[in-house]
Amino acid sequence: MAVPRGRARDKVVIVGAGLGGLSAACHLVGRGYEVTVVERGARPGGRAGLWESEGYRIDTGPSVLTMPGLLAETFAAAGADMADHVSLHPVDPMYRAAFADADDLRVRQGQAAMTEEIRDHCGEKDAAAFGRFCTWLEHLYQLEQPNFIDRNFDSPLDLCRPLRPALGLLRAGAFRRVAAVVDSYFDDRRLQKLFSFQALYAGLSPFEALAIYCIITYMDTVEGVWFPEGGMHAVAQGLARAAEKGGAVLRYSSPVLRILRQTGTSGAVSGVRLESGERVRADVVVANPDLPFVYRDLLPETPMPRVARRGEYSPSCTLWLAGVRGELPDGAAHHNIHFGADWEGSFEAVLRRGTRQPDPAILVCLPTVSDPTLAPPGGHVIYALEPTPNLDGRIDWGRQRDNFRNSLVSRLGDCGYPVDDIVTEQFIDPEDWERQGMERGTPFALSHRFFQSGPFRPNNIDRRVPGLVLVGSGTLPGVSVPMVLVSGRLAAERVESQLRG
Ligand SMILES: Cc1cc2nc3c(=O)[nH]c(=O)nc-3n(C[C@H](O)[C@H](O)[C@H](O)COP(=O)(O)OP(=O)(O)OC[C@H]3O[C@@H](n4cnc5c(N)ncnc54)[C@H](O)[C@@H]3O)c2cc1C
Repeated sequence: MAVPRGRARDKVVIVGAGLGGLSAACHLVGRGYEVTVVERGARPGGRAGLWESEGYRIDTGPSVLTMPGLLAETFAAAGADMADHVSLHPVDPMYRAAFADADDLRVRQGQAAMTEEIRDHCGEKDAAAFGRFCTWLEHLYQLEQPNFIDRNFDSPLDLCRPLRPALGLLRAGAFRRVAAVVDSYFDDRRLQKLFSFQALYAGLSPFEALAIYCIITYMDTVEGVWFPEGGMHAVAQGLARAAEKGGAVLRYSSPVLRILRQTGTSGAVSGVRLESGERVRADVVVANPDLPFVYRDLLPETPMPRVARRGEYSPSCTLWLAGVRGELPDGAAHHNIHFGADWEGSFEAVLRRGTRQPDPAILVCLPTVSDPTLAPPGGHVIYALEPTPNLDGRIDWGRQRDNFRNSLVSRLGDCGYPVDDIVTEQFIDPEDWERQGMERGTPFALSHRFFQSGPFRPNNIDRRVPGLVLVGSGTLPGVSVPMVLVSGRLAAERVESQLRG
């Protein structure tokens, strides 16, 4: 039940204007709270950042936007219409997949177009299997979204309350492995890779991830991939505007030093202290920075939950961002995945051995394919991401950084991308992510192993700290743009229960 509008005396401070914090702000202004967002950076977005250089506008974080309905719901929560703030366009093909030993495939927007693509390149049997696979994915999503994703958990027993969805997942084979399920649908090796690599978004390999995580495949393959005019950062700008219009106050360049408690180091939270020394009073504090950072730096008297301290973190990535001049190769798409020659070896290296992939699989995004205004005339933006181990791995980044950058750029050149005339560039490695406050140098938080998901993930409330609510990828439901938008809604629910309780 919603708190009646007009309870303006309940003051909520949100630390951080990442997409999770902004989503919480939209949901809270819609429920009538007095909301102040304090962000250390000069603009909103956090990981969904923007780098402007030499006339190029380059996204520094997410590149694949899925589940636009969840974004529309977030705008609506603040009383806004998404169309007034961001213009989304479908990306088609959603991905071009290039293989070391086989022809390219294009993942098309819409089931009919993708079925055609599969029929043309992989045969009738796999084309028919695609229809059955999509039906299965939809069934999985219907079971998981309301019962395991879009809800708060107070106990592991909640997984079986109600019991029917859990039994439904069991019957649907959702506790088998992703690779086993996908391979049971498709014979073509390329399709097996295309519909299972998404396990990596959950920080896992398709050979170990449970098929419940095939809903990530649902999010892009069935719901489609979208691109906002002006780039992904436009989503953050739009949400910030909507929250402000709804009544939130957004304060940038205002780093928070501490979350304050009523009696020094115990009791309910009473607000935050900024680096400037200013205190901002609050009845509830919603914290959006990477969760281990919240405990270690903003609440040093409270040990972080065990799973955040001892758990397994997702792999990380290196990111090469560049503004270049030149022509793109024939057939280049907005999103290009170059699979390496050693599929199993890639996961083994990054997830188990803590070393570089033997023949790195990379994601190359060319946002100027969809929006040429992101570069000056004759120019393109190149965003190349290579999955790597996080800082628990065995790579000495101080020594290996240049090697990673140079071999990535040379690989891009071999693939035909224009890297001879680089106007501006930036290379980000796991130590850079760590300097930005991300635990173990990964921007992808705790992995989504079963015992680090749902009720086993660090919760968004902490009974030791009344009045604290957590939001973002380190808590429920987890990593990715759609998930942190949901986490903002779940956080708003928790704010209400904190104030009512
Ligand atoms: C390279 C990369 C590629 C990705 N690709 C995709 C993709 O294609 N699709 C997808 O769905 N997801 C993708 N993701 C994941 C997705 O971007 C994240 O899960 C999501 O943006 C995290 O949002 P958040 O709100 O949890 O955290 P953040 O964005 O980190 O927000 C935290 C905010 O808190 C602020 N903050 C920190 N400390 C303080 C302080 N002391 N005082 C005040 N403010 C503070 C930070 O500046 C930041 O704005 C990608 C991420 C990265 C980095």
